Amino acid sequence: MLVDSFGRKITYLRLAVTDRCNLRCQYCMPAEGIKIVERKDLLTFKEMYRITRVLSELGVNKIRLTGGEPFVRKDFISFLDMLSFNDKLDEINITTNGALIAPHIPKLEQLNIKNINLSLDTLRADRFLKIKRRNLFHETYKVFENLLESSLNLKLNVVVQSGFNTDEIVDFVSLTKDKNFEVRFIEEMPFNGSGQRDMQENWDFTKILAEVQNSFENINAIATKKSATAKKFQVKNFKGTFGIIPAFTRTICNDCNRIRITATGMFKNCLFDEGVFNIRDFIRQGASDEQLKNLFINTVQKKPKNGFIAEANRLSNGVSESMWTIGG
Ligand code: SAM
Ligand code: SF4
Repeated sequence: MLVDSFGRKITYLRLAVTDRCNLRCQYCMPAEGIKIVERKDLLTFKEMYRITRVLSELGVNKIRLTGGEPFVRKDFISFLDMLSFNDKLDEINITTNGALIAPHIPKLEQLNIKNINLSLDTLRADRFLKIKRRNLFHETYKVFENLLESSLNLKLNVVVQSGFNTDEIVDFVSLTKDKNFEVRFIEEMPFNGSGQRDMQENWDFTKILAEVQNSFENINAIATKKSATAKKFQVKNFKGTFGIIPAFTRTICNDCNRIRITATGMFKNCLFDEGVFNIRDFIRQGASDEQLKNLFINTVQKKPKNGFIAEANRLSNGVSESMWTIGG
């Protein structure tokens, strides 16, 4: 079993299957000059499968596939097929920008993918272009509608960006009146590859909740699992729910059950650490399953108490990476 030095049990892996992406969200990537890694430096699907199998034998029972954009990687659907044979995994979840997934929705339903998190930060086409720097609003919104009609459990990720979309928080919550899905407001983090964006206002958990409370009465908190990233709420008599993820204020670290592996095989105990070990190199040097298990057990021991300590322990100055390389 994977248990860290604070007694937290690790059961959830976030795996970035690629560093490539078809969009250029301003909070995630710089507009130009992105250095994608060479293909040979990416984990292969076979390596990912092996890492997942070994981790699942150590108690990891949930996996989230992310990136970059997972659906831009060739054969991603075959990888999902492969993963679905691992009966130790109770949940396979995907985070996607949605633009490419319309033809794959029936297959995702067939594979019993548990949660699809669709990133859609705005309900307006002109803003979509500004935020995501690609003109794919209508394709993405159509996928949102298709997913609502599907059997998949849908969560909509909205990064709350000062100066861009804060006036749409209420519109998003209004959508949950008749539609059964969860909208999740994520605090923006300074992970866009060029350091902290110049923000006019600090839209943290408290401010986001206050914005909703100003427009709706009778908001009830909903109990969630201890390890949940979002604090969840529902407006009385609404079909759907809304959640707020204190990603940057980091008030959820005490119950963290997550580890991350980047597309190049870097193991991360925390979103805010620099990466603690390269599993790809270890595997390519011929590591056995037993050696991999020992590595995971020992590395998890070093999981920092919280994201502030992880950030302080970084050797480099501040967080300069991007979510597309970290695997959001
Ligand atoms: N490309 C996929 C997508 O956009 O959903 C998956 C990868 S993306 C890095 C995963 C999640 O991280 C998305 O929901 C995205 O909105 C979020 N994200 C990216 N950069 C962020 C930032 N600087 N602050 C907060 N969330 C961020
Ligand atoms: Fe691509 Fe997702 Fe990053 Fe946007 S948030 S640039 S869609 S990886």
